[in-house]
Amino acid sequence: MDFEFTPRVQELRSRLELFMERHVIPANIEWHRQAEGGTYPLALIDELKERAKAEGLWNLFLPTLRDDEPGTRLTNLEYAPLAEIMGRIPWSSEVFNCSAPDTGNMEILHLFATPEQRERWLMPLLNGEIRSCIGITEPDVASSDPTNLQTTIRREGDTYVINGRKWFTTGAMHPRVKFCIVMGLSDERPDADPHARHSMVIVPMDAPGVKVVRNLAILNHHSPEGHCEVTFSNVRVPAANLLGEEGAGFALAQARLGPGRIHHCMRTIGQCEVALELMCERALERKTFGRYLADYANVQDWIAESRIEIDQARLLTLRAAWTMDRFGNKAARTDVSSIKIVAARLQTKVTDRAIQVFGAMGLTPDTPLAYLYTWGRALRFIDGPDEVHLRTVARAEIKKAKENRGAMAAYLVPPHPAGAE
Ligand SMILES: Cc1cc2nc3c(=O)[nH]c(=O)nc-3n(C[C@H](O)[C@H](O)[C@H](O)COP(=O)(O)OP(=O)(O)OC[C@H]3O[C@@H](n4cnc5c(N)ncnc54)[C@H](O)[C@@H]3O)c2cc1C
Repeated sequence: MDFEFTPRVQELRSRLELFMERHVIPANIEWHRQAEGGTYPLALIDELKERAKAEGLWNLFLPTLRDDEPGTRLTNLEYAPLAEIMGRIPWSSEVFNCSAPDTGNMEILHLFATPEQRERWLMPLLNGEIRSCIGITEPDVASSDPTNLQTTIRREGDTYVINGRKWFTTGAMHPRVKFCIVMGLSDERPDADPHARHSMVIVPMDAPGVKVVRNLAILNHHSPEGHCEVTFSNVRVPAANLLGEEGAGFALAQARLGPGRIHHCMRTIGQCEVALELMCERALERKTFGRYLADYANVQDWIAESRIEIDQARLLTLRAAWTMDRFGNKAARTDVSSIKIVAARLQTKVTDRAIQVFGAMGLTPDTPLAYLYTWGRALRFIDGPDEVHLRTVARAEIKKAKENRGAMAAYLVPPHPAGAE
């Protein structure tokens, strides 16, 4: 495994860092001002998007772009350090057309869209003209096990009729979000294969019967694009809006979530670096009882532990990205689950330490720490809760042990028989 940045990545990193310094960081206050005032900062984002596109900093996340698609082809390993830089300003990934949930939706469409779906939905997404959302989670059932999903997708002639309630549909309130990929039950026979009963359909957000009910606050933080509750009441879409085969919802969800999970982790590492840098700066300027906070051993321990844990998480993420590139998303499944757990836990741990060093100010919106903590906590659910990922890792270990059953016998030291020489 070689994690050294290639000359191409080094060059892209320098350009991306410069772009962030010149254009994104100076716009940060304005972005927050508009977002907190209840307006999505569309004009600001659009201007930055045009610049990023013109500079070739566009769609960096998609390793398999076709020749007619706009963007810069990068492997997951090459993309990782760039996503980390974008992560430093959480809203910035939209500027480079690299934000969730669009990235996952573009990947799913890239893999499974029909030529018509490609033209109508994928190309405008790749061009950054529209955005999208995905509705899997439902309030009424434990959605970390998607076999539970109850929203129905019924075939009636040349249409599908969708009925149900979703929530935490990220982006549903974004003014550019034009469609939602909805996962629901298309085979209502209770005895059918539980992993082949669900399908995914593309639902235009302006279809009659689609209603964004509310924007759910996350630990009392509102996101301007919304993590929304959305109802679907007798929504009719053409049968041609089905993604892949009927009953293929699970296969599609798996294909979608692997790379998406790793992107979140890469951005998280950037956010943890910001928290650590803020913690160090504050510790160097704040004095109590005649000493700077940086002189206290406990603060030094927090700084050191944060440094070590971020570096560990980065290496694990790079290994997962390398495995994906080398052996495919399926082979990287356990690695992706591992990093998903490590990164989400890391973010709350590091930001919590930084908040403590800042004193009460750390809890206010005057620093990004409260938001970063909230987002870290949310990450422990987004794309599956920790426990589901722990289960994946445990199952892989237990499978190995079953295959090698008895191999550890040589490591055991049996008791010495009594009286033996
Ligand atoms: C900010 C944010 C954005 C999101 N964006 C989206 C989105 O765009 N689209 C979307 O569809 N969803 C989205 N989600 C929802 C997220 O994917 C779900 O919350 C997650 O999959 C868990 O589902 P649930 O909330 O129904 O929890 P449940 O399934 O009810 O699980 C509750 C708890 O049960 C425990 N548990 C579950 N399985 C096991 C197990 N095997 N072993 C032990 N314990 C277990 C876990 O502790 C888990 O937290 C988002 C969530 C957040 C917070």
